[in-house]
Amino acid sequence: MTRHRVVVIGAGIIGASIAYHLLQRGVVVIVIDGDQPGTAATGSSFAWINATLDNPKSYYGLRLQSMLEYRRWEIELEAMPPAHWDGSLF
Ligand SMILES: Cc1cc2nc3c(=O)[nH]c(=O)nc-3n(C[C@H](O)[C@H](O)[C@H](O)COP(=O)(O)OP(=O)(O)OC[C@H]3O[C@@H](n4cnc5c(N)ncnc54)[C@H](O)[C@@H]3O)c2cc1C
Repeated sequence: MTRHRVVVIGAGIIGASIAYHLLQRGVVVIVIDGDQPGTAATGSSFAWINATLDNPKSYYGLRLQSMLEYRRWEIELEAMPPAHWDGSLF
């Protein structure tokens, strides 16, 4: 069986996520970055994940699902630093 090969250009959170999910599906992945991985927008972010309500319902649902995914990754990816599941009030 032919294994697909994919080159992902950019090792920020998006490229890293694409590479991770392709690897999960058995694809051979090469990630290329012109700089150090995770140092561009990803390295500057506040690392805040949330699902506030001032978005269209579909986007709110996507963000809520993303938060649930982080909880799964905390178990699945042992190397991932633990998230701070603090509350908020507005
Ligand atoms: C100050 C700040 C705070 C933020 N806070 C949050 C937050 O709290 N929560 C949140 O969800 N989002 C936040 N964001 C947004 C979030 O950080 C970005 O949406 C996200 O990091 C973008 O990821 P990315 O992988 O697309 O881009 P990047 O992290 O920028 O990665 C792109 C990578 O591609 C590489 N690259 C680019 N061009 C080439 C090329 N031609 N050849 C090779 N490599 C290349 C770059 O070197 C870089 O490593 C914040 C953004 C900023 C700036």
